[in-house]
Amino acid sequence: MNEFDLIYQLINTQSISRADVKTGIGDDCAILSVPDGYSLAVSMDTLVNGVHFPESVSAFSIGYKSLAVNLSDLAAVGAIPAWITLSLSLPSVDETWITDFVKGLFTLANQHKVQLVGGDMSCGPLSISIQAHGFVKKALLRCGAKAGDLIYVSGNIGDASLGLRSYQGDTAVPENCIRRLNEPQPRVDLGIALNDYASSCIDISDGLISDLGHICKQSHCGADIYLKDIPLSDDYKSYFNQQADYTDAMTFGDDYELCFTVSPKDKQAIADIARQVATDLTCVGSINTTNQIQCFDQNNEPVTILKKGFEHFNE
Ligand code: ADP
Ligand code: MG
Repeated sequence: MNEFDLIYQLINTQSISRADVKTGIGDDCAILSVPDGYSLAVSMDTLVNGVHFPESVSAFSIGYKSLAVNLSDLAAVGAIPAWITLSLSLPSVDETWITDFVKGLFTLANQHKVQLVGGDMSCGPLSISIQAHGFVKKALLRCGAKAGDLIYVSGNIGDASLGLRSYQGDTAVPENCIRRLNEPQPRVDLGIALNDYASSCIDISDGLISDLGHICKQSHCGADIYLKDIPLSDDYKSYFNQQADYTDAMTFGDDYELCFTVSPKDKQAIADIARQVATDLTCVGSINTTNQIQCFDQNNEPVTILKKGFEHFNE
């Protein structure tokens, strides 16, 4: 058996087989059907060894995270995930590594009934590109926020930033933060539930300040953010001895929570959705008419959060 045959064999262990896949892996193209009344939402993300994950992360986590970041983009527009394609660049074919990678990928794919329908393989530095496809009736975009809208954040932010510290030699990082860095949970059900309510939405991959900045820019508005309301986990707070350092939480990213805006009249609907999807949804501020994001400290004094979110070409 040649090396690629081994990979194809592993890839063919997937258990999801969707009726809308007319032709899957094995031909020149996948042939897929989109349900009537829906648009196709398409997104792609690449993970490069040493850039998007530390070299020592397990193959299972790399497979899991490669899909999670893509499902998070679908969640951010409120799409229902359906299919993925996978482009793999591998330095060599290590059977144990690829078996674990595929397990990680399919563990999350199974949870969301997502089918792998094609891809590509090459020999080179370790890098994984996934293209995700989903269905959406009315997409949640970055451009719909209006002055007076409330700004919400799902779950909590900052744990992934602590997770990375463990790879820099810090042994005091809670296990849960390492898991949040390596195996983030895309907020798929939340994105779908927000369809009728959110005026804008984005997933937090580069830090709240940076990602909310995209909403502000594309919606031609600014934002007031109250740091005391930023949802931090107990792990994060106890790591900093309750002296919460907001810089990491606001600027590191890799949280894959959703940040969205809603009209104040929909506050109750958002509380109902939080219960329905069993996820905390916290109001952290509101949209204003300026073109800046202003943060306020515990005493409602304006503060500046200096570090910017992650930008590949600015590091
Ligand atoms: P081609 O020469 O047409 O690119 P390949 O030999 O690369 O064909 O691929 C054969 C089939 O296997 C195609 O259906 C392709 O989509 C699928 N495939 C290749 N690589 C992957 C991968 N990494 N994951 C899933 N399917 C793959
Ligand atoms: Mg090919």
